[in-house]
Amino acid sequence: MSIESVNPLNGEVVRTYQPYPAELVTRKIRQSHQAFLSWKNTSFSDRAFCMTRMSDILRKRKHELAKLMAVEMGKPIKAGEGEIEKCALVCEYYAKNAEEFLARETVPSSAARSYITFNPLGVVLAIMPWNFPFWQTFRFLAPGLMAGNCCLLKHASNVPGCAIATEEIIKEAGFPDRVFQTLLVESSAVEKIIENPVIKAVTLTGSTEAGMKVAQKAASLIKKVVLELGGSDPYLVLKDADVPLAAATCAESRLINSGQSCIAAKRFIVVKEVAEEFIRLFKEEMQSKNMGNPLDEATALGPMAKKELRDQLHAQVTRSIDQGAECILGGQISPGSHAFYPPTILINVKKGMPAYEEEMFGPVASVITVSDEEEAIQVANDTSFGLGSAVFTTDIERGEEIAASRLNSGCSFVNDYVKSTPELPFGGVNQSGFGRELGTYGIKEFVNIKTVYIK
Ligand code: NAP
Repeated sequence: MSIESVNPLNGEVVRTYQPYPAELVTRKIRQSHQAFLSWKNTSFSDRAFCMTRMSDILRKRKHELAKLMAVEMGKPIKAGEGEIEKCALVCEYYAKNAEEFLARETVPSSAARSYITFNPLGVVLAIMPWNFPFWQTFRFLAPGLMAGNCCLLKHASNVPGCAIATEEIIKEAGFPDRVFQTLLVESSAVEKIIENPVIKAVTLTGSTEAGMKVAQKAASLIKKVVLELGGSDPYLVLKDADVPLAAATCAESRLINSGQSCIAAKRFIVVKEVAEEFIRLFKEEMQSKNMGNPLDEATALGPMAKKELRDQLHAQVTRSIDQGAECILGGQISPGSHAFYPPTILINVKKGMPAYEEEMFGPVASVITVSDEEEAIQVANDTSFGLGSAVFTTDIERGEEIAASRLNSGCSFVNDYVKSTPELPFGGVNQSGFGRELGTYGIKEFVNIKTVYIK
């Protein structure tokens, strides 16, 4: 089957690509290994030179790359430019800090001298999703290349243009040939790629289902894996919360990337005293966003990335309503070949409903009213996921205590929405995955943490 870019604004095929035949994939894997044999011996300053040049190129090509995302997966142009800016930042961050993060660590022991080195592993396969087509890739490749690894990218099948553009940017930045290559293949080709002995590790950002399949395969071959998977982030609104701030922040987070973000707020757990006010203000915020053509600068909300995903989301909404949830905003699909879904709010969401149990990967908010803070925490943790979480309260000390010790997630924010930033580690617990990206922890995922002992 061919790999297609389809514009979710109107369903038109933008471009069709032929997947790489198996022999070409094998050749590219071999070439990656050859590239690794020299790349691993380069200095941090040589790597940083290319990495810094890459951040300049990203900034120069920002508008063009944002347009590509708008056409391939519906991201509004302004948000797309913001995403490319963030990619430039992560390149700069690791260009500046990788050497220090991976410096030898001396550790006193029974030896005359003992220390730890952080050596590159080799060729790492990155399997990436379409929702942040550049950011997801760059947050892995910047630390990966700075650590001395080489990378093969299998990107989501609906963003082949973004995958090819990433390879071009790497070349333009002056990295040696083949240190990074895109493999235009379908997901059915992945198992065979993982089997190749040259592939030393795999990182996957995507759904829990894909993570399970890839992790099983990698585990059967004892290959290291990092998994960044789905989430259903709970946002707690306590009775002493600044409710207008909570409502505005929750709506902002729920609608990031037209609702298609792993760390978007998804479940709003509101203590009964403030439920009425929160729901009223939250609804005003959710309906204030301008939905339209992603190429229009005034658009805040584009179409969803694919019509099938929109239809799956609508089915989750419909099943939740059938089970007793009340829809107070949106919830309707307008006819046509587009993939738009309107901002939608479900209230009276209860355990057992899809809106409570499943990830809602689109602009749909599930509001759950609870009687007190303890119940809010219990409901927040009553999930198979554990990516991010947030708590809104004017008692900062209490908020910090809940964030740091009570919420079961990879990160927890107080009075703000969850976001990733180059300095702080990012990842999940439970079915949201394992391993970390970004910060000092991210760059140490794909290195051999090696003990050296001298008698
Ligand atoms: P997806 O369907 O799991 O796809 C992600 C990637 O995995 C794509 O490249 C896909 O390729 C590939 N893939 C799918 N099934 C596979 C299989 N059986 N074997 C090997 N590769 C496979 O996810 P998505 O729809 O693109 O992204 C949405 C999901 O990603 C959501 O659950 C979201 O929460 C999660 N996500 C998590 C993070 C995080 O950092 N934790 C960030 C962003 C998104 P094809 O496109 O060719 O199928």
